[in-house]
Amino acid sequence: MKRLFLLRYDTERSSQEQMAGFLEKAVAVHRADQIPATFFCRSAAVEAREDDFRAFDETVKDDPLFDIQDHSYSHIGLCYEAGSPVDVLKADYEKSFAIHERVFGKRPIGVSICGTSGKDGAGLKGFDETDKARAELDMMAGLGLRMINSKRVGVNGSCEFTNYAPLGHPEIMGFPSGYSDTGWMYRAEQGDPMDYILGQIKERAERDAHMPLMLHDWVAWNEAPDKELTHVRRIAEWARQLGYELVTHIACYGEKSLWAS
Ligand SMILES: [Zn+2]
Repeated sequence: MKRLFLLRYDTERSSQEQMAGFLEKAVAVHRADQIPATFFCRSAAVEAREDDFRAFDETVKDDPLFDIQDHSYSHIGLCYEAGSPVDVLKADYEKSFAIHERVFGKRPIGVSICGTSGKDGAGLKGFDETDKARAELDMMAGLGLRMINSKRVGVNGSCEFTNYAPLGHPEIMGFPSGYSDTGWMYRAEQGDPMDYILGQIKERAERDAHMPLMLHDWVAWNEAPDKELTHVRRIAEWARQLGYELVTHIACYGEKSLWAS
């Protein structure tokens, strides 16, 4: 099995003042080092920084290194114990997808689930855990969803790809998700951030496991040691040294043998 490294940015900050320069720098760095990345964009941020996002999309839209997907409109919670009613979730994602269509000229097919910090109760182990969560997945499928975090009971969502055939959606890929930089970098919960994350990548490589890396635009830009994305370059270089193939989420979707069996 080839080991895949899935680097993503949950791109969600609305503040132009805080985020000025981030998208340009990300394009420059990811191109210079040929690092594939998926940008799950929260569309309230797209709206607030529309010129930036339009310029970003213009620059990357024909470049397979960059994959633009969705992170809701208002950072709303899918697949939680409690959480908003399905019709409220639907309205949020409909609004978000419409903004993607207007600004990027393209409807997203991928969503990364938002962390809502306990506001919606605990995150469920899977969309198959409650009837409401099943209804949420059905609703998202109806909006054209084709890829989302691996969230099925019994599936290790931090390592494994899956699909949602047992829930009636064989066309939807589940992707591994984990290692949020809000934990290991922003809050430095594991000691030195770089020692920790490079160590984790090595440990995964030794287990022959896929490696997801969840970055955030505001952490990578405002909470990192510099504004050159040096940490991202080091992480990508290390992953390659350990034999990882770096990929976007949409590239994984195109490789059905990974998730559709
Ligand atoms: Zn988020």
